[in-house]
Amino acid sequence: MTALGQDVGPARVVTLGVETPEVMEKLRDWTRQLDSQPVVATPQVMATTGALFYLTGAAVVAVVALGVTSPRTHPAILWSAAAAAGMGAVAVFCYGTRMDRWSFGVMNVIGTLLVSLVVVASGPGVGAASIAVLFVYVPLDSYFFFRLKPASTFHLFGVVCLVLLGASSYLSVPEVAGLILVNTIVAVVVAWLVRAAATAETDPLTGLLNREGFNRVVRSVLASLPEAGATLALGFVEIDHFAEVNSHFGSHHGDDLLKELSGRFCSQLPPGATLARFSGDGFAFVVPHADAAEAQQTLQHLCRSSDHRGITFSGGVAAAVAGESASMLVSRARAALLEAKTAGRNRIVVSVNDQAAIAELAHAIATGQLTVFYQPIVTLRGGGQATLAGAEALVRWDHPERGMLPPADFIDLAESAGLIGLLGESVLAEACTQAATWPEELKISVNASGRQLIEAGFATQVLAVLDRTGLSADRLVIEVTESTLEADAGPAVANLQTLRAAGIRVALDDFGTGYSSLSRLDTLPIDIVKLDRSFVSRLSEANDASPVVAAACAITQTLGLRMVAEGIEDPAQARILAGYGCDEGQGYFYGRPAPDLLVEEPEGRFRGPVPIAG
Ligand code: C2E
Ligand code: CA
Ligand code: CA
Repeated sequence: MTALGQDVGPARVVTLGVETPEVMEKLRDWTRQLDSQPVVATPQVMATTGALFYLTGAAVVAVVALGVTSPRTHPAILWSAAAAAGMGAVAVFCYGTRMDRWSFGVMNVIGTLLVSLVVVASGPGVGAASIAVLFVYVPLDSYFFFRLKPASTFHLFGVVCLVLLGASSYLSVPEVAGLILVNTIVAVVVAWLVRAAATAETDPLTGLLNREGFNRVVRSVLASLPEAGATLALGFVEIDHFAEVNSHFGSHHGDDLLKELSGRFCSQLPPGATLARFSGDGFAFVVPHADAAEAQQTLQHLCRSSDHRGITFSGGVAAAVAGESASMLVSRARAALLEAKTAGRNRIVVSVNDQAAIAELAHAIATGQLTVFYQPIVTLRGGGQATLAGAEALVRWDHPERGMLPPADFIDLAESAGLIGLLGESVLAEACTQAATWPEELKISVNASGRQLIEAGFATQVLAVLDRTGLSADRLVIEVTESTLEADAGPAVANLQTLRAAGIRVALDDFGTGYSSLSRLDTLPIDIVKLDRSFVSRLSEANDASPVVAAACAITQTLGLRMVAEGIEDPAQARILAGYGCDEGQGYFYGRPAPDLLVEEPEGRFRGPVPIAG
């Protein structure tokens, strides 16, 4: 694969007599490092450096021509200076455009020939020797721009030119020897410095770019997109359940898998793409001049190329939109990856980049078009009576043209556009303000999306809202889904622990739809389990026994958690659930989501207390 002309494939390994695995591994690393493409030489850096070399070369030639050479040779070498300046101008003109790495190789050879010609044109003497000093640029940019092999070929070409100039007496033997020595020292120093700089951006295990290197490449590709409408796309791919691979088979096996995948992915990527190891179990790639559909195809290709190992992948893709920063683009692609993991893994999510829709939603949040509906939650364990216990806040978009929109129409957009934090905070503030006006025994449940939960400041934000609205912490429940906790456990769990320490309760929403395992319930930082309505809808007068629901209710009781059943639509379901010991219920039978929680309303809303069976 060429990545901005960068070949990140595994390096060739020289086999020696001693073949202990450690020695071989060290040798492999060493060879790979030495033979890798210099990552500091991006197209812009090469264009700038190349232009500067040519322009200084032109200036030196002109000065020497005017100061040292005889009037007879002026025109010839001034012409050469003009040619060098012209080459410099070409390099400046090409700055930022997508000039192939090999064009710089051609410029290098032309530069070497030009210097040799000027030396010949100025004739033997001080002038020729001064101009020959410019040969130092040959190893300088060769080892800066290219891998070791092409760089030493260019270097050797310069040495041959010097030797020929010495043989034809344009330069003296000591001058040639001195210049070859200086050039060799420059070559060693530049090659070493460039490779040392690269290791800071290289993942030692796979030899790919690391996160810093990848971010830099994305910034540089984004900055080098010249014309309007040109785009680039990013893809993130993570191995599903990689931690389990490591714990079951050992980290050596995990390392081998990562190395194998990096080689396989490199060979599958389209030309011009760059692959990086972005995290412990994840890779990222950037494809210039591609849109989201092409990046999605590439990602599918990568996943398919490795599915024979029985592993699955989750992926996220985003294509740049006009004026977008590199960090915003990376964060959109990562949000898409998180969505794929949250939705159950083994899938690819493409980030929406419908700018008009994003702008409309941002405007709606800013101008208060979002409104909160409340759905009653009742206690089922009141000896045959259902008593109002609180409500769940459910967001709606009161759209000026399309009417009242349900969350299914805009939550995904808010998540992928990075607006979910703002949306969630406004719903939380509104819900807490409302709940503070209700009788003290009523609590309010507010949904939090995975994107919010993994933000380091989420818990602090919730506590600040409680502070502002005056609602006491024990009246607030934050609902999170199981897949969120599964997808990015670290930061999410830290937030939940802070919230619980402050007295806020945490409910596990949609229980039974994700990776539910009853045995995991005691390890999660939760207080309430909300049984998904798919379990409740299966219960009816005719089908009044569900061992699964019975077991779920029993285990939550044993663990000291509360169980809330969602989607109760008829009295039979309520009765069966109450019989199983389910603590609370929610559903159309008790009340649909409505703009306010009217406790005394006689019809259509919760009337409480009412008999559980209606
Ligand atoms: P959820 O948290 O599972 O919310 C319950 C959903 O089930 C609500 O849909 C509610 O109207 C519906 N529902 C309640 N009782 C019944 C019933 O008896 N039968 C049936 N068929 N459905 C019932 P809604 O309001 O459309 O919300 C859908 C989802 O949107 C919510 O699912 C929640 O995941 C998300 N959501 C809603 N508000 C917010 C919010 O403020 N922030 C975030 N992040 N997500 C939200
Ligand atoms: Ca919920
Ligand atoms: Ca739910």
